Amino acid sequence: MSLFDSEIWIQLMTLIGEVTFFFILGMVLAAIALAIIAAASITRGKFYLPRILIPGMVLLEGLVKAFCKLLGLDDKDLITFFITLRNTMNTKAFSETPIEQRAVFLPQCLRSAQCPAHLTPEGLKCRNCGRCSVGENAEWLEKLGYRVFIVPGSTFIKRMVKKYHPRAIIGVGCLMEVKDGIDMSDRIGIIAIGVVNVKDGCVETIADWTAVRDTALLGIKPPSGSVDFHGPAE
Ligand code: SF4
Repeated sequence: MSLFDSEIWIQLMTLIGEVTFFFILGMVLAAIALAIIAAASITRGKFYLPRILIPGMVLLEGLVKAFCKLLGLDDKDLITFFITLRNTMNTKAFSETPIEQRAVFLPQCLRSAQCPAHLTPEGLKCRNCGRCSVGENAEWLEKLGYRVFIVPGSTFIKRMVKKYHPRAIIGVGCLMEVKDGIDMSDRIGIIAIGVVNVKDGCVETIADWTAVRDTALLGIKPPSGSVDFHGPAE
């Protein structure tokens, strides 16, 4: 009698089969529960059970998204929710990162159509000409201690990350750009907070500068005198 025909082998295989079945069943049930919590959070506009939702999402994001879609959630709402969730998850680590290890990535579509700045290997070099809000906000962020990059796309972001090794970044852009940026940051181990534009498009988009500034100040004691913390955000 071979090992594969023995009673012990059959019992072992049965046990493995049962454990696998209950494990998968548990994951599916947990994903359904998380999808319901996520759906309730999105429709009511507030986070329910964040202590369960956040670690659960880390483990079961793909499955939860699939169930959220089955529950009829709109793609845009779902992406916004996941960005907010990721931001919430990253806030503590971001706040604890020293300012000199942080960077801000702004999309170049924020600039004026008459922008006189030129593209360099490190992105657009803003001249703070006053034609758009990028200049004053980038200057404010730089005074705070941030490296600020105005970039045409993710290739530039990857190159600057490789060169300057920021540990935490603020990524500004349209919904999909921000989501892709957060996913990319997760993959390469960078703490990212995303700020979605208030006006999308290809040219003269508008950033949520108030949110950018609020995020930039996370974990920072405002230094006296050097930065105008109450100046106009737009
Ligand atoms: S403020 Fe900067 S980004 Fe905006 S138009 Fe002027 S140079 Fe271009």
